[in-house]
Amino acid sequence: ENDATVSIVVVGASGDLAKKKIFPALFSLFYEDCLPEHFTIHGYARSKMTDAELRNMVSETLTCRIDKRVSRVEKMDQFLKRCFYHSGQYDSMQNFVELDRKMKQHEGGRVSNRLFYLSIPPNIFIDAVRCASMSASSGNGWTRVIVEKPFGRDSESSAALTKSLKQYLEEDQIFRIDHYLGKELVENLSVLRFSNLIFEPLWSRQYIRNVQLIFSEDFGTEGRGGYFDNYGIIRDIMQNHLLQILALFAMETPVSLDAEDIRNEKVKVLRSMRPLTLDDVVIGQYKSHTKGGTSFPAYTDDKTVPKGSLTPTFAAAALFIDNSRWDGVPFLMKAGKALHNKRAEIRVQFRHVPGNLYNRNLGTGLDRATNELVIRVQPDEAIYLKINNKVPGLGMRLDRSNLNLHYAARYSKEIPDAYERLLLDAIGGERRLFIRSDELDAAWALFTPLLKELEEKKITPECYPYGSRGPIGAHYLAARYNVRWGDLGVEQ
Ligand code: NAP
Repeated sequence: ENDATVSIVVVGASGDLAKKKIFPALFSLFYEDCLPEHFTIHGYARSKMTDAELRNMVSETLTCRIDKRVSRVEKMDQFLKRCFYHSGQYDSMQNFVELDRKMKQHEGGRVSNRLFYLSIPPNIFIDAVRCASMSASSGNGWTRVIVEKPFGRDSESSAALTKSLKQYLEEDQIFRIDHYLGKELVENLSVLRFSNLIFEPLWSRQYIRNVQLIFSEDFGTEGRGGYFDNYGIIRDIMQNHLLQILALFAMETPVSLDAEDIRNEKVKVLRSMRPLTLDDVVIGQYKSHTKGGTSFPAYTDDKTVPKGSLTPTFAAAALFIDNSRWDGVPFLMKAGKALHNKRAEIRVQFRHVPGNLYNRNLGTGLDRATNELVIRVQPDEAIYLKINNKVPGLGMRLDRSNLNLHYAARYSKEIPDAYERLLLDAIGGERRLFIRSDELDAAWALFTPLLKELEEKKITPECYPYGSRGPIGAHYLAARYNVRWGDLGVEQ
């Protein structure tokens, strides 16, 4: 097994994701000695490039965490020597046969394992999978394919994509990436819950009043709206990233940490959820805004966005899990572009202390009295718990303070990029952080009726100024469930 080789093919190597994420992640893994002894990396795309040009492109874009290290240059040279490029069409058997021949040369008769990373637009997924599986799959080792979102745009198209993939691949060869699952704090969610006595007993409707999953970006589409406009924020962020976090958060204790055990529990959560209705959703779209003399564009000012587009760039939703653990607990999601900050976090608001002796010392505002656990996934990773605390002094005044685990202060180690973990797992055959097809089906089943209704009824999104906190409607939605968004207070 140690003697086997891994050939990693980056299909779409000339593209944005390959440059920004895949090559840097592969280099970090190499730098940390995490890649197998025998490996080669093959860039594949239609653009004409030589090996040297690919290496040059890769070396210029290795903007990863290793940048600052001293021995980087030497390691980089070793890494680049293992990178090759092959130009070809995505639907040409012949071109993939040539790729196969090149890979064989480098594999030198060893057991060959092959990992194809499809970093290409979705309309050519199937062509590439067909050619790769028929003309360039391994003859004596494993062949795995990493697929990037979007996995369709509703239940039907997603099912059709899965069906086509399965014409050429077995389920266990398909690695559907949701890079949020590779993020350090999302991985830690289960550790926090299942490896500490103080959280799991509270993890239910009995003690938790609501859970909030929040994603915000402080920039708009900025000239890259073509892809986005066809999907919108609900498909781009909620149906995958936020829902995956929700499923991990809410699942029952799995039998073990094995991929199938964990994914079984996640599917159960998704299948226990109520499909979303228009009533439980608010959508928004950013409009232009001038601040301090600078003017920020509206979504529809983006040249790549069709005039009059109704695509939401913001959405808030209330979701419910109809099982015994979570009956009646609102799970509120909020995701948006061009908001006032850039952040992804999970907020857990606990119930009031019954008969709290200190109610009168707490000051005004009901939610001052409740505990809130915040897991900040990005940036500046942290886990903190808001508690009521006595302000030191002779009086008896309480305030809210944080028990704070701030990663930068606690751990000197840099946090690896999500793509590093996911690539390493795919090479190792660890499927825990990848999406199984029944999970994907369940996720689409929740959102598809809503997405159809939004499109059929041409629901107009509520406007919000670029750089603001999003549409007012999101507050009314939360208020309907007696909830206040936790991210609106002043943070320490
Ligand atoms: P991209 O730059 O638009 O495309 C990657 C490569 O595919 C291009 O360099 C191009 O290579 C080829 N290509 C583009 N359009 C094509 C077309 N119409 N027909 C045939 N080939 C075409 O895409 P990307 O941003 O790297 O993303 C790759 C995949 O990852 C997509 O599925 C995307 O949805 C997903 N994704 C991207 C990001 C991101 O941050 N960029 C994040 C999450 C998911 P050649 O012309 O050289 O063949």
